[in-house]
Order: sequence, then structure tokens, then C-alpha cells
Amino acid sequence: MNPLAEGLEYFRDLGFSEIYVSGPPVLVAGSMADLPSLAQFVSGCPRCKLAGGRTNIVFGQGNPKAELMFIGEAPGREEDEQGLPFVGAAGQLLTKIIEAMGTTREDVYIVNTVLCRPPNNRDPEPDEIAACRPFLEEQIRLVSPRAIVTLGASAGRSLLRTNEPISQLRGRWHVAHGARVMPTYHPAFLLRSPKHKREVWEDMQKVRDYLASGDG
Ligand code: URA
Repeated sequence: MNPLAEGLEYFRDLGFSEIYVSGPPVLVAGSMADLPSLAQFVSGCPRCKLAGGRTNIVFGQGNPKAELMFIGEAPGREEDEQGLPFVGAAGQLLTKIIEAMGTTREDVYIVNTVLCRPPNNRDPEPDEIAACRPFLEEQIRLVSPRAIVTLGASAGRSLLRTNEPISQLRGRWHVAHGARVMPTYHPAFLLRSPKHKREVWEDMQKVRDYLASGDG
């Protein structure tokens, strides 16, 4: 039996017939009219332990009707300070990658798996990713991109709900949320290991060609 059902049985056996649960409002999937309404909904979010350490929530940025969405891992220090995704060193490399694909940051939509900075830039933990998932999924629904590029292991695995290593996930198409998904390496990893830039460029050429083809 699942823990919730078990808990409810426990209270029923104690004689309770009604239970009131309090907490922040739950996002009903598909209920937000647009991105500003969603940004308003998440403002001041207390839903996970990252809330206490953040300066700003880092909501997605870019074209609200973008054909191409990039999903990173989590805001870093500069992103947390400015409240914008990918504005630090990794962000500058991401901007170059986007421009090499023949587009601009303003034309794509950039977001992270979690909206708040983890302490000391550690990886986001499963409960934090789960708490933020409805907000990421609602952003994907509202933007409705044709293609999504996930950056790094954490973003790729959590979007595709797999534990496969990023070295095996990258470079081939997957499908999620009605979009084609291309996992690739994170730009921060490329800054540490520039020899992997070639693989990322191969992945991005596939994305660029798919978008140019006008296919499905
Ligand atoms: N790394 C990420 O994954 N996201 C950012 O916004 C910045 C760095």
C-alpha cells in the first residue's frame, strides 16, 4: 500500500473522519494561462529546502513561443543574484552555442530543472527536482517548443525519467512532453573538458537541421 493510503487508514482507525491539509497551493497542470501567471504563482515559493538559501527565483527567460527550449540544471551564484538563467561563465558559452546554431538567446527559451540555487552549487536533489517539476512541465506546456535540448546529466535524466549516463543519452533523439528531446553535455562541463565541444556541436547540428526541416 502506498504511504498516503496507509497514513489515511491509520487516522481512520483512530476515529478521524476528516483531515485538513495546509500548505502552499498545488499547481493544477494546465491551469496557467501564460508564463507571467506562472511566474506570479511561483513567486515566494516555499515548497522545498532550496527556498531558504536563494536570493531570487530564476524563472525561464526568452521567447514565450520559442521552437527551441534549453533546460539546464540549476541556477549558480550569478543567476541567483540576477534572477536570470545562464548569465555566468557557462551561460556565456551557451550563448555562443546558440548563436553558432544560427539563432539568438531572445529567440529560444532557457530554463532550469530547479528554479532556485542549491547551496555551494551542488546537484539538485531528487526531492527538489520533484518539487519544481510541475513548474518546469507547465513552462514546457506554455512554450510548446518543437525541440528541447537538455544540458547535463541531471536535466536529461530528470526530463526523460531515466538513470542512463549522459554519455549514452546524448546525441540521439528522445521524446517527452510532445517535443523531441536532445540531451547533450552541460556548458560548465565543456569549460572543464573542452575536448567534448565537438560532440555538443554534433548534437546541436542535429537540432538545427530538425528545426530547419519543418518536420513534425
Ligand atoms: N548552470 C545551469 O545549469 N543553469 C544556469 O542557469 C547556470 C549554470
